Amino acid sequence: MLTKKLPRLHSFKALVSRRSSQRARQQYDVVVVGGGHAGTEAAAAAARVGAETLLVTQKIQTIGALSCNPSLGGVGKGQLVKEVDALDGLCGRAGDWAGIHFSILNRRKGPAVWGPRAQLDRSRYREFIQSELLSTPRLTVLEGSVEELLVEEPDPEEPGHHRVTGIRLANSSQKISASSLVLTTGTFLSGSLFVGQTSSPGGRIGDAPSSAGLSHTLRERLGLRVGRLRTGTPPRIVKESVDLSLAEVHLPDSNPAPFSFLNTRTRCKPEEQLPCHLTYTTPGVERVVKESFHLNCHIQQDTKGPRYCPSIESRVLRFPGRQHQVWLEPEGLTADLLYPQGLSMTMPPELQLRLIREIPALHRAEIHTPGYGVQYDFVCPTQLSPALQVKSTQGLFLAGQINGTTGYEEAAAQGLWAGVNAGRQALSMPPVALSRTESYIGVLIDDLVSRGVTEPYRMFTSRAEFRTSLRPDNADLRLTLKGFEEVGCVSSRRYQEAVRVRDSLHKAMAALQALALSPSNWRKTLPDIRMSEAKGATLNGMEVLRYSDMSFEKLASCYPEILSPYMEFAQRLKIEAVYRPHCDLQKKEIERIQREENMSLPQDMDYFSLPASLSLEVREILDRVRPSTLGAASRLQGITPAAIVHLLNYVRQTSQKDKRAKRKQPHQKEQSEEEGSVRKASVTR
Ligand code: FAD
Repeated sequence: MLTKKLPRLHSFKALVSRRSSQRARQQYDVVVVGGGHAGTEAAAAAARVGAETLLVTQKIQTIGALSCNPSLGGVGKGQLVKEVDALDGLCGRAGDWAGIHFSILNRRKGPAVWGPRAQLDRSRYREFIQSELLSTPRLTVLEGSVEELLVEEPDPEEPGHHRVTGIRLANSSQKISASSLVLTTGTFLSGSLFVGQTSSPGGRIGDAPSSAGLSHTLRERLGLRVGRLRTGTPPRIVKESVDLSLAEVHLPDSNPAPFSFLNTRTRCKPEEQLPCHLTYTTPGVERVVKESFHLNCHIQQDTKGPRYCPSIESRVLRFPGRQHQVWLEPEGLTADLLYPQGLSMTMPPELQLRLIREIPALHRAEIHTPGYGVQYDFVCPTQLSPALQVKSTQGLFLAGQINGTTGYEEAAAQGLWAGVNAGRQALSMPPVALSRTESYIGVLIDDLVSRGVTEPYRMFTSRAEFRTSLRPDNADLRLTLKGFEEVGCVSSRRYQEAVRVRDSLHKAMAALQALALSPSNWRKTLPDIRMSEAKGATLNGMEVLRYSDMSFEKLASCYPEILSPYMEFAQRLKIEAVYRPHCDLQKKEIERIQREENMSLPQDMDYFSLPASLSLEVREILDRVRPSTLGAASRLQGITPAAIVHLLNYVRQTSQKDKRAKRKQPHQKEQSEEEGSVRKASVTR
């Protein structure tokens, strides 16, 4: 059993001195470029699988920086954080350390789509990530900017296929060789910052962009397809200048739920958490946006921005006349700035001030740092394998915003997986993949590598076909065991804890299933329970727990001798009971697909007559490729397991119809011959 205590951080001073004493060697198994959310997870994961790893980043002090909103998780994103944690990644524990306002979003819906989220203290988050990295065995951190990737020319027998061999640092002739490289340059690749009508090179405010040499290697030497995307951030507002009494107060959950499976509590005590506030835009905001349009070059460009985190300019232009939500969120426990979520903007600073003052709670607000936009290069992710390796370049892995995603959680999830695979490749181990049926990380990677992106990609629960199985509560059982037994990125301490949880849950469910009573006997023990009576039927404890007004605690109070050892799992057992029938059905469907792997698909099949529940994109792929078997179809890029279930059902149904029709045909023939002879006979007669 683990002692579930929050860790003590290494003293920052000690880290700084250790940092300066670190000397990079000339040769590593893995080099990770970039210390953002993807890079930190990648470096830690590569080191965890056993690779000697070097993380090179422009500024050590910005490792773990939250470029935009100081928050972690949310709907779909919270699932990613739980999965990264289940694979022993950093961001979940960092969130528990730095969170100052925890809440579960989507609580009115089922627990499968709950979104664990926390508002963070920026400096605490950075502090935790830096401390973790600088104390990770086999990991060295080096401050520097990578100017060039060293690439071996393609083998004449395999034209177009390159191999990366290392990096060269900017302003130096220093070269460092590596078997694998993970590139996680975020918004820095050919990055330009925009405010009003001015633009300047930059990856983030205060930080220079990635050097042109890096873009050149990717485009020209490796021949990769590179696109351009944009995003933006709101002005930061001086907290003292805001009248929070004119906004709605939103309190955090009174019992904050940690992200990490290793923690039973968060660092911030429930009573220490801070509230967030909600306010709305006014017609005045819309007026300022429209008046400033001609002075706002970022918004006028064709480059695609994040659809689900749009700027106030895009919101107003897309939905004129509407009131838009603005969340006023604390930047830290003692920070004197507020982050106005929903007010990302790129108009000139004086107009930004005019705009925010159109909102009653902000009528006297002062801006600390103006909002700005950033445009950057991304590499079209269809050029990657499911291990996140560039298909045409051995040893080169990409993760994070460079693959066209947006968000810390998406970056962290890809970083972890790219780091695992880069480490494994350097140690001559085969690549590993996560499927859509076992994780949101699998959904994210499959979406990227098989469909690509046309706008910044973010995670939603609706992207996961098997979301009732891929719940935040069971990420440890889905991934920690695999992470230890097959992947090698999970510590034995975490593994032992997951095994303990798995075994206890199995025992608890067996105890509940053994508790089988007739409805009338259940009513004797639990008089309040509303239960439909089926004569002669018995219900077991798992089935009773499924009732909405039933809790594990209630059951355990009636049968303490059997159930009290499992009180720590009360909520997980309730969720398991509710979803078990549905998940069992899904599991059967997946097994059915695996069994029917060799089922032939008719070559003349009209894919456009498949049910409309299949997307046009899926039908087009199937029509174009015309796979010969179901297995071949399931391996096509862009074909989801849900599409395969539809296809299987459709082919089964049509072949049954055909069989029935064939059985009917000879009979019809006989009948018509009979009818003919009768007719003939009658004519003769
Ligand atoms: P980053 O966190 O950007 O990290 C990249 C790292 O690479 C940096 O540490 C950088 O110093 C380093 N680096 C770059 N080039 C080199 C080099 N050549 N050598 C060495 N080191 C290098 N996300 C949302 O979900 N919603 C939003 O609205 C949103 N708005 C944003 C607005 C702005 C202005 C910015 C900058 C980001 C925004 N984000 C938003 C995105 C969020 O910050 C990113 O999705 C996330 O940080 C991506 O993580 P990453 O690891 O890919 O890159």
